Amino acid sequence: MKNMKILEQVKTQSGNTVDLFCKDAKNRNTPEATILIAGCFHGDEPSGKYLIEKYLEKDIEPDNRLLFIPCLNPDGLIAGTRGNAAGVDLNRNFPAKNWEASAKDKYYGGKAPASEAETKFMVAVIEKYCPDLILTLHEPYCIVNYDGPAFDAAKKISEITGYRLEQSIGYPTPGSFGTYCGIERNIPVITLELPPTTESEDAQTPVVSAESLYEPFEKIMDFLNFYNIKN
Ligand SMILES: [Zn+2]
Repeated sequence: MKNMKILEQVKTQSGNTVDLFCKDAKNRNTPEATILIAGCFHGDEPSGKYLIEKYLEKDIEPDNRLLFIPCLNPDGLIAGTRGNAAGVDLNRNFPAKNWEASAKDKYYGGKAPASEAETKFMVAVIEKYCPDLILTLHEPYCIVNYDGPAFDAAKKISEITGYRLEQSIGYPTPGSFGTYCGIERNIPVITLELPPTTESEDAQTPVVSAESLYEPFEKIMDFLNFYNIKN
């Protein structure tokens, strides 16, 4: 894995590791932009980790600095659960102004905003590396959602995947990553909802293999590698 390094790591409650990897821009001193790609906020949505790890094998020299968190929720991934080892839905645990205490169901937002190590890690990464655009990988809805000023990039990703484009204002998502970064910090955030790669009661389309999603994911990365967001 040429020109790639681990920048940051954190241990989870179950002793697994969340890693932040970097592929530097070919002109390391003046990257056009910093782009963060993150998978597996939800442990029962495994394709993000597969796609990112496969992509990290590739030898590329992008214009942009690329940061990757293949799996934000390794405890949930191993257990096959949406939440982490404490049963917290990480995508409801971000310290957004609309975070609220919630029932201990599958959307449980934790006992306090950013109570979880995984959430604290992501918040620290955002503050330290100041990404100009963030792509997160979820399942199973086949939608390209966006928060903040991400319309142009989200539209392009919608064209690549054929999934419909939707600004995420449909229903309240207290403490969500999109609200925290996109709405409150004005960072373009694209939430790519892939089709299901495991059985899911929420899915409206059949289960597909993670392998079959790699080709469109690589096209998205070909676009993001050289996307000049500042223009
Ligand atoms: Zn998800």
